[in-house]
Amino acid sequence: MTMKVREPLISELSAPGRRGVRFPESDVPASPMPKELLRADLPLPEVSEVDVVRHYTRLSHFNHAVDIDFYPLGSCTMKYNPKINEALSRLPGFANLHPLQPAETVQGALRLMYELQEALQEITGFAACSLQPAAGAHGELTGVHMIWAYHYDRGDTHRNKILVPDSAHGTNPASSAMSGFRVVEIPSDARGNIDLAALKAECDDTVAGLMLTNPNTLGLFEEHLLEVIETVHAAGGLVYGDGANLNALLGIAKPGELGFDVMHLNLHKTFATPHGGGGPGSGPVVCAPHLADFLPGPVVVVKEEATDDLPPFFGLETPAKSIGRVRSFHGHFGVMVKAFAYILMLGAGGLRQVAEDAVLNANYLRARLQETYHIPYNRICMHEFVAEGRWKDAPDIHALDIAKRLMDFGFHPPTNYFPLIVHEALMIEPTETESKETLDAFTEAMLQIAEEARANPEVLHSAPHATPFGRVDEVKAAKELVLTWE
Ligand SMILES: *Cc1c(COP(=O)(O)O)cnc(C)c1O
Repeated sequence: MTMKVREPLISELSAPGRRGVRFPESDVPASPMPKELLRADLPLPEVSEVDVVRHYTRLSHFNHAVDIDFYPLGSCTMKYNPKINEALSRLPGFANLHPLQPAETVQGALRLMYELQEALQEITGFAACSLQPAAGAHGELTGVHMIWAYHYDRGDTHRNKILVPDSAHGTNPASSAMSGFRVVEIPSDARGNIDLAALKAECDDTVAGLMLTNPNTLGLFEEHLLEVIETVHAAGGLVYGDGANLNALLGIAKPGELGFDVMHLNLHKTFATPHGGGGPGSGPVVCAPHLADFLPGPVVVVKEEATDDLPPFFGLETPAKSIGRVRSFHGHFGVMVKAFAYILMLGAGGLRQVAEDAVLNANYLRARLQETYHIPYNRICMHEFVAEGRWKDAPDIHALDIAKRLMDFGFHPPTNYFPLIVHEALMIEPTETESKETLDAFTEAMLQIAEEARANPEVLHSAPHATPFGRVDEVKAAKELVLTWE
């Protein structure tokens, strides 16, 4: 259980004259400061070193983190990120580069980017890659722009709609709409697949494409995937793959070979960059040959092939019909270093093991919870599954109460109220980095909460009890946001 933090949580720590550091007497003559830089009064806190260390250490524990405990936030892939990737991305040879340096002085960095492009193409079965987009949603926007550019280039300018399943991440319709398309929602069928009949009814000559997440946000593999893709292609549309959740497919299936035309990846989900604190992330876009010319540039290419004496010379190039630049300079290079190190360290076999363990862990939790929690689309899942946080015999209990109560056990809650097609959704993604002991502890907490829901619902309604702050009024917090403690 999370330790209760002693009151007062935030008190005035400053006391006049208290110091953290004392400088020795100066042994050089004082030189006058420019008057503009001097202030008569500078009310900084006066605190000792230990006050400062404790203050920030205490603050750091107010938030949950994957380094503290289990973080099964569905669709977000909050896996543990090996610290060596951080150390490598901070190597001075990487961290101190300037993006405007001439290519001959940054061959190592360009080679890393080139080989990462190649690795991501190999993992996903696509022919080309751009590392520019800064995150998943940005990759989507990029890919949908590429779909637009593809049709426009062919003179096929009457295609004005993008189809999006009702289980999709909210960024999918947003990216389509921001690219100027009309968004048409396609319902899911009783097994959690995209409804084929509804899809076929919308596949006319105005369809520009379909945005498809596979496995979808229910954690399920599309059972009619090939037929779905063929249907859209037959109508002249392209298929966009939302690859934010690639964890279940690594080393097992290649979306490029399944017929997808373009896809983004979330390096900050699948490829071990910490996230949740607002970035930086990276959302590379990979695509089939017919879209390669439209990729945002520049991308890294081999300018001069290797010879017997010399390694290849890498440079930057903008594809022929590029939609243009989508990010300043070259994207988030530090994230690329981490992803590259992670891929090299795991190798092909290790990546496959990631996927197998992620799927095994999710199915283990699903199997242990399915008798207690209703799972509306209950079949073998991929990296995650979605349960309902409600029971007929506990009518006042909502998914939110279960989520808040889980915090008392030291766990981060699952994703709540998404996907929208499941009532009181609890979307649980354990990831491959969790041990059986952790999964069992989480299961026990979930089972205890289900009992409390009937026997003592008040303990759920008033949860969390063991965190530094109790239940907040979420409406008030959103409407009257206070970002400072004063
Ligand atoms: C996380 C996620 C996204 C968006 O990624 P960001 O990096 O947060 O922009 C898109 N689709 C799915 C399915 C996701 O899980």
